[in-house]
Amino acid sequence: MPIRVLSDELSSRIAAGEVIERPASVVKELVENSLDAGSTRVEVEVVGGGARSITVVDNGQGIPADELAIAFERFATSKIDASSDLIAIGTLGFRGEALPSIASVASVEVTSRQAGADAGARYRVDFGKPGTLEPAGAPEGTRIVVSGLFTNVPARLKFLGSAGRELSRIQTMLASLALIYPHVAFSLNADGRDRLRTNGSGSISDAVSGVYGQKIADQMLQLEADGSAAFSVDGLVSSPSLNRSNRTYLTLSVNGRWIQSRRLSYAIEQAYHGFLPERRFPIAVARIRTPLDDVDANVHPAKAEVRFLREDLVYSVVQRAIRGVLTAHAPVHELGSGRAGGSIGLLRRPAGTGGRPGQGERAAAGAGGYSGWPGPGEPGQPEIESSAGLARGQAPLPETRTAGVAPEGGPSTTITPREALPVLRVIGQAHETYIIAEGPDGVFLIDQHAAHERVMYERVKAGFDANASESQPLLEPVTIDLAPGVMTTVHEHLVELKRAGWGVEEFGGNSLIVRSVPATLAVRASGDGAGRVLVTLLDDLSEGGSGESWRERMLASIACHSSVRAGQALSTDECKDLIRQLEKADQPNTCPHGRPTIVQLTVSDLEREFKRR
Ligand code: ADP
Ligand code: MG
Repeated sequence: MPIRVLSDELSSRIAAGEVIERPASVVKELVENSLDAGSTRVEVEVVGGGARSITVVDNGQGIPADELAIAFERFATSKIDASSDLIAIGTLGFRGEALPSIASVASVEVTSRQAGADAGARYRVDFGKPGTLEPAGAPEGTRIVVSGLFTNVPARLKFLGSAGRELSRIQTMLASLALIYPHVAFSLNADGRDRLRTNGSGSISDAVSGVYGQKIADQMLQLEADGSAAFSVDGLVSSPSLNRSNRTYLTLSVNGRWIQSRRLSYAIEQAYHGFLPERRFPIAVARIRTPLDDVDANVHPAKAEVRFLREDLVYSVVQRAIRGVLTAHAPVHELGSGRAGGSIGLLRRPAGTGGRPGQGERAAAGAGGYSGWPGPGEPGQPEIESSAGLARGQAPLPETRTAGVAPEGGPSTTITPREALPVLRVIGQAHETYIIAEGPDGVFLIDQHAAHERVMYERVKAGFDANASESQPLLEPVTIDLAPGVMTTVHEHLVELKRAGWGVEEFGGNSLIVRSVPATLAVRASGDGAGRVLVTLLDDLSEGGSGESWRERMLASIACHSSVRAGQALSTDECKDLIRQLEKADQPNTCPHGRPTIVQLTVSDLEREFKRR
């Protein structure tokens, strides 16, 4: 073929690829235009993940009728002029590329009425072919409908994901803009269903509530911007007790522009160092302000990344702000770092023994040292209580005895055959692993993971036994690859897996599609995380061996992955909640693997240690 200059029409279709990659990019460009136009309300409606149609309605300043056609010409913009050096850009758009790019790969209809104008107008462009301008009745603001996206570019159409996947991209993007612009009321409706709604009150906390729910909003800490500083950050960050297994909950903006920046995300994670366990991530909305000429927004086609002139300064402002609010609001964490020498030593190395491990501990307990709990191998082995505990009749007893459940303030009356815990008052958490509580006879240390595992195990098992396991669909199914041997385990136990709440399907070879997961687990692991849990679980289960039945081990494994980990900071309320749940468990004293969930330091232990007696 001879060399030819591409037609304008063709080259604009190619260039559109830079800006308009998928439905979410269309929504982003349109919504950014709405924001640049000063809208306080932006309504987005999509059909078929946006591939069928996208409608954006705003109440901004509108487009004058005689400028509607020009808005669709390449490099037509009202936001910068010829003298601009592209250095200090205060608007989201500035290239004048979005509308022509979108119109070259879709059918676009704009209806707009400029604020204060008597009438509105409508203009239509079909796949780059301009139509006619006609008068139209319309409220002030702009309504743009984009339909049949990419139907003239089959190659691009092929690269779109499923409607659900494209929708979730739109949702993430719009949620981010809603968090960054709390004074704008956003809504997203997909195929007739409401997906997102913020109230535009101006409070970021309200926006967080609209996007992530009130419960999360309640646990966010506020970053106060230093209004006088050239560089500042405001927003909300999660208290350490609230965290996630991935980074998708970080929303960052610079001068009102939503950005994605690995380095900035990392800077934020660093600020949480010591407050969050490994591989847990905060939820955050951080809105950074810098002098306009300190950022270059013109480095990325979709403007999703920016370049900071003084990068280190930006990071340190952000880190200092977050660190400050975390230290001010994390009493639980500080409690965990307190030193408790003698008492803990007593539990580890019972008084009066030479520190003999194993048997020695048990013997010491029998000698009145401390009251342990029946171990895994010795169910119901008579445990010798401290005399003080027996005298009060309120000490927790092993299962072969009758145990008193102490009603608050009174002697025990209820006789129950099962193990029971006394009513405990939570004092705090230590080392982000142990809950410290006070009971009628002494102080109790609870292993948060083991305790939660017990609670979750009983819940999971009850659901399984009643054939009523709750299953939670994943937003996007994940595919996992298994070792061939493991696939055999899946074949053998498919029915049980499903009954436990795993919605899995074979996907040829050694792959599985995971569509839904046990509901208890969904809280801790989503998407790929849930996939990884299933891989680990199946790997473990394929090894067999321990003598427990496969089913029991599967349920225990689900419980394990549904539980808080050691090293996870818990708020006092979360500690209380866990203790209340443990109190209700049938076998509160051991985890499903038989490890103890709780150890006790009795009042007489304390008295003896402190030589009060
Ligand atoms: P840019 O945003 O880079 O200027 P666009 O192609 O996105 O380029 O938009 C072209 C122009 O159309 C904008 O500069 C603006 O004047 C006008 N415009 C687009 N959408 C809206 C809207 N929702 N409200 C008001 N004006 C709009
Ligand atoms: Mg624009």
